Amino acid sequence: MTSISAETFTGDIAAAFAGVVGAEDLVTDPARLLRLSGDLSMEPFESAALAVRPGTVEELAAVVRRASELRVPTVLRGAGMSYTRAHTPLRPGLVLVDTARLDRVDEIDAEDLTVTVEAGVTWERLYLALAEEGVRTPFWGPLSGRNATIGGTLSQNSVFFGSARYGTAADSVLGLQVVLADGTVVTTGSGAHRGGTPFFRHFGPDLTGLFLCDSGAMGVKARATLELIPLPAVARGASFTFTSRAAATTAMAAMARLRVASDLYGFDGFYHGLLAELGVQGLRGKEASLHAVVEGADDAQVAAGLSQLRAVATRYGAEVPGDVPLLMRADPFGATQMMFRAAPAGVHLPLHAVVPFSRARAVAGVLERFLLDRATELAAHGIGTWELVTATGRDLNFEVTLHFEGDYRDATVEPAARAAGVTLRRELADRFTRSGAVHTQLGKYYAFRDELRPATWELLDAIKRAVDPDGQLNPGALGLGGH
Ligand SMILES: Cc1cc2nc3c(=O)[nH]c(=O)nc-3n(C[C@H](O)[C@H](O)[C@H](O)COP(=O)(O)OP(=O)(O)OC[C@H]3O[C@@H](n4cnc5c(N)ncnc54)[C@H](O)[C@@H]3O)c2cc1C
Repeated sequence: MTSISAETFTGDIAAAFAGVVGAEDLVTDPARLLRLSGDLSMEPFESAALAVRPGTVEELAAVVRRASELRVPTVLRGAGMSYTRAHTPLRPGLVLVDTARLDRVDEIDAEDLTVTVEAGVTWERLYLALAEEGVRTPFWGPLSGRNATIGGTLSQNSVFFGSARYGTAADSVLGLQVVLADGTVVTTGSGAHRGGTPFFRHFGPDLTGLFLCDSGAMGVKARATLELIPLPAVARGASFTFTSRAAATTAMAAMARLRVASDLYGFDGFYHGLLAELGVQGLRGKEASLHAVVEGADDAQVAAGLSQLRAVATRYGAEVPGDVPLLMRADPFGATQMMFRAAPAGVHLPLHAVVPFSRARAVAGVLERFLLDRATELAAHGIGTWELVTATGRDLNFEVTLHFEGDYRDATVEPAARAAGVTLRRELADRFTRSGAVHTQLGKYYAFRDELRPATWELLDAIKRAVDPDGQLNPGALGLGGH
């Protein structure tokens, strides 16, 4: 690919995009471009040469088409809350498309139980708009949902609120409107039927799935139609503590298998310290805790679900007051922000390992082994770890985070800890992979290609070539592109 000079980006290329969105929705300031281009992975990235902020789906399609005509590759950005090099450019000369202005909730259909939204809508905004109509999406947001967008989340696949019963973000999707690399707008699911509406995902082969969890490699999500459920009338929580992580993991798998809880998640001692700062004292000093929320139409239904969970959990641990689920549900998207404000300022490097229930103990063991093997290096650089485990319907999602003092934006602070943190995170990710775990939020971080059987990779690569023949969209995402 011929390189284009920086001047061209601020000159002819900027003018071409300004012709679509207007000059006020271009970003050319280098400091702002650097901020928009980076993520929380501490891995190397290049700054985008220009950012474009389309305000309608038509503008979005025109921006992508224009980029294709100019042969300028693009990366898509939602809220930039991810940490796997997902939207970060790997080489100079890319245009970043910022979806923040695509923030319309297009249609809430409480009769057919569907909602159609633009890609830049946040989970919090969607939740609040739906609550007014007495409905909700089954999965209803990651902890970052105050900022995280529908488009970014469906591209990474996230878990948390609603996941224990209803699965991941991708599991709630009925259909998409996607802009292909050449600017063509494609509809998937029953919305693709001439004269049809988007109420049914499996109308023929699942083209919706092709564009989910793709880290933006296959197409640009413009709109998504998600399933709705009635807003539960009653939601109540219960909490349990355990003397070991192993016991908590065993209990969690057994509880998750019942498919009774809507939310089911586990914290470790680091989280317990943060929660103590917020006034939740009962977990201080405990090794591990689990928190569950059961939803239902009335008290009796919820009480029955909670007693099923209690019967299992108390075989391995003890019940404690359910302050945590209460706190999380009182302000779902604010609670995390409060917790992180209580956290020591520093760099946090998370990674995921997803396993079926039967392998949960083994994966918990991988972390314990890593902490023993690398105790010296971790201590030498003041690196700690913390762990959040979320039940996601048929499996458990372990999120382990390495943390140390420093500032993401100041590369001169603690360079040795940074280098060690990045290396150790990679080693832990590789250990999880070797243990048979898979990952969500693949971005450009995990060695996806090496993890796949060759025939599967070849099919994926062939599909990428069909939808994006010039490798224009998010080059390097999933290890694809740049061909
Ligand atoms: C404090 C904090 C809490 C978090 N909590 C959770 C949690 O509870 N559960 C969880 O699973 N994750 C969590 N995350 C990770 C992250 O927030 C989620 O992955 C989130 O869904 C990302 O959304 P985003 O809008 O920020 O996407 P971005 O980071 O902007 O983008 C993610 C990927 O999607 C692509 N993309 C964005 N928009 C589009 C589009 N319209 N079309 C095509 N591709 C697109 C990007 O190119 C990129 O590859 C958390 C992160 C932080 C920092």
